[in-house]
Amino acid sequence: MILSLGNASEKVIEEVRQNLLARGLENTLVKCAKTTLVVITSDADSLPGHIFSQMDGVQKVVRLSNRSPLGKDLAQTVVTLSTANSNSGLVQIGGGRPPIVISGPCAIEGRDQIIELAQEVKASGAVALRGGAYKPRTSAYDFQGLGLDGLKYMKEAGLQAGLPVVSEVVSIEQIEPSSPYLDVFQVGARNMYNYELLKELGRQRKPVLLKRGMSATIDELLQAAEYILLEGNLQVILCERGIRTFENRTRNTLDLSAVAVIKSLTSLPVMVDPSHAVGKREFIAPLSRAAIACGADGLIIESHCTPDKSISDAAQAIEPSTLAAIVNDTNIIWAALNPSAVGRTNIDEVTEEASAVNVQGSKASARTLAGTTGI
Ligand code: PEP
Ligand code: MN
Repeated sequence: MILSLGNASEKVIEEVRQNLLARGLENTLVKCAKTTLVVITSDADSLPGHIFSQMDGVQKVVRLSNRSPLGKDLAQTVVTLSTANSNSGLVQIGGGRPPIVISGPCAIEGRDQIIELAQEVKASGAVALRGGAYKPRTSAYDFQGLGLDGLKYMKEAGLQAGLPVVSEVVSIEQIEPSSPYLDVFQVGARNMYNYELLKELGRQRKPVLLKRGMSATIDELLQAAEYILLEGNLQVILCERGIRTFENRTRNTLDLSAVAVIKSLTSLPVMVDPSHAVGKREFIAPLSRAAIACGADGLIIESHCTPDKSISDAAQAIEPSTLAAIVNDTNIIWAALNPSAVGRTNIDEVTEEASAVNVQGSKASARTLAGTTGI
C-alpha cells in the first residue's frame, strides 16, 4: 500500500507516519520531485482504504494487491439472492446485470395476505419478495410483526410464487431460527451501527442487504459493510433508503448522490428504497426511475394488495399495478442506458457452480474469492 501525500509539510508527513506506526504498520518515506510517498511495508491489504484516505494530508491511496473486500479495484460483486432450493432460479444483482426489483409489504400481516401479494409481486416482474416479521417500530405501542410465524408464511408464499424472500433481523438471537425461512438477511437503518449483529451476519452463508442509517454518512455505511465482509461473507448489497434532513414534505430525503458515490468507491451492488425515502406512494415511481437512471442495481419497494389497509407504512405502500409499471420503466431506462448489455439476465439457471457462490463461509475462502474470481 502506498500513500501519496502531494507536497504535504514535514509535520503532516510525520503525523501520517506516526499514525501508521500506532496501528502497527511499518512504513518508509520516498521523496519524489513533486510528491511525497509513504510506502507501507507491513501487510495492510486486509485493511479498508478509508482508514488511510481519511488521514490528514493523504491525497491518494494506491493498493498493490486487490485483496480488499470492498475495493473498487475488484471485479464487480455479484450477489446471488437465492439458493438452489428456493424454486426461483438464481436471482442475481450487480456486475452489470439488469436492475432487480424486490417488493412486498412493510410487514407480513398474515398467511393469506402474503400468499396473495406474492403472486402479484411475481406477476409484476419483480424477482424477490420482501416483508417484515421483526418490525423495528419507532413506537413500542405499534404492531411489532408476526415474528417467526410471519417468516414461515412468507417462505411458503415465496416458494409458491417462485420468489426468494428478504426480511430483517434485529438481533443476533433471531438469526439462527430465521435462517431456514430467509434467502437474504436485511439489516435495517436502525441497526446499521449494530456491529455485533453485522459480525454475526458476516459468519452466515446468506446474502445481507445492509440499509444506510438515517443519519449515517456514506463512509459509515461502507465501514458497517466491512464488518460483514471481514468475517468472510462477501455477499453484501448496500441500500440507500433516505436520510434525515430539514425537509419535512417527505419522510426522508433520497440521497441519490450516495448511489453514484458508493458505486465509484466499491465493488458491491447498490439498491435504492424509494418507499422509506419519500414515504408517499405518489412519488415512488418517479424516484424509482431516477434511481435506475443514476446507476442503482435494484429497487426495494413496499407494496400491498389494499395499500390503505396496510398495518404499517400505509401511506407509502403501492398497488401491484403501480409496481408492474415501475418494473417496466426500470427495464426501459436500463436498456436505454446500457444498449450493449441488452439481453443480459438477472436470473440464471441453477447450476452447482453458481449456487456455491452462496456458501463461502470462511475468511480464507472469502479472500480467495475476492482475489481470484472477483466475486
Ligand atoms: C424496512 O425496510 O422494513 C424498514 C424498516 O426500513 P428502514 O430500516 O430503512 O427504516
Ligand atoms: Mn416500512
